[in-house]
Amino acid sequence: MLDPAVIAATLAELGQPAYRARQVYEALTRGLVTDFDAVTTLPLALRRALRARLSPLSLTERETRVAPDGTARKTLFATADGHPVEAVLMQVAGRATVCVSTQVGCAVGCPFCASGRLGLRRGLTAEEIVDPVLHFARLLREEGRHVTNVVLMGMGEPFHNYEQALRACRLLNDPAGFRLAARSISVSTAGVVPGIDRFAAEPLQLNLAVSLHAATDALRDRLVPLNRTYPLEALFAACERYVGRTRRKLLFEYVVLRGVNDTAEETAALARRLRRPLYHLNLIAYNETGGEFSSPRPEEVEALRRRLEGAGVSVTVRRSPGGDIEAACGQLALRSDAVA
Ligand code: SF4
Repeated sequence: MLDPAVIAATLAELGQPAYRARQVYEALTRGLVTDFDAVTTLPLALRRALRARLSPLSLTERETRVAPDGTARKTLFATADGHPVEAVLMQVAGRATVCVSTQVGCAVGCPFCASGRLGLRRGLTAEEIVDPVLHFARLLREEGRHVTNVVLMGMGEPFHNYEQALRACRLLNDPAGFRLAARSISVSTAGVVPGIDRFAAEPLQLNLAVSLHAATDALRDRLVPLNRTYPLEALFAACERYVGRTRRKLLFEYVVLRGVNDTAEETAALARRLRRPLYHLNLIAYNETGGEFSSPRPEEVEALRRRLEGAGVSVTVRRSPGGDIEAACGQLALRSDAVA
């Protein structure tokens, strides 16, 4: 993906009229071309000049694994400077959702998350965040399908790379380009309070999700170390401001760690926090990544759902496809060393 401003500046340098920039940008974002030679509406000399100056792809595909049931496809890419970037295409219930990363590694360091164990290497550019979406859009096009949703929920904390994450959302939504509805794009934060306030003021109608994972400070300090900076009181005050300002639904993600955050005490605290209009909770069964935590059985997750629903919480169990290929939540970056 190339930023339209970069395309326009390059074509202006080449003495080309403005409509050429639109042609090139449309060919990349709607025609999904990966090589200027394929833009046959351009004169041959111009295609060559563009090729010498710009590269439409910021990432190189390295390895792809597909879940046996076909619901998930995980691709490992490499940035131009050799960093691993992973993205997943999930096809469930008629949707084709791409989960993208916003950073290489993550500074938050949640102990159940494979990305957290990498530490932070660097933030991704908006182009690097968006490129996997175009990659999967090309694949889906071969089957006559298209990307229906994008979630910024892969490796990294989007609000630790706010400018680029939001620029990526604007590129995906651009009516002159990829044209994905803002309501089909979700950004997931571990609870960066200033980021939530800033996001609430964004003009685009994007969705927000909060990775909660615990409802008491003692446990959340351990599971999501960012909680020591922004404890639950501050986080929920920001959530209230967000809902008050946007009137949009706010999603909470909760990875269920067996015997850790599904206890009676945590469940009661969770119900007290989330029994509010416009709040919705997604329970996700943890997929074991070889660490200290273990997965709950499906019937245990269902029992937890029923307890929370009975306590007045709007709650669903989200199936996390792709466990077989380590493409489920908290499992990106497990094999990122494969790029090196
Ligand atoms: S769960 Fe999210 S915030 Fe926590 S370490 Fe993993 S990527 Fe970072």
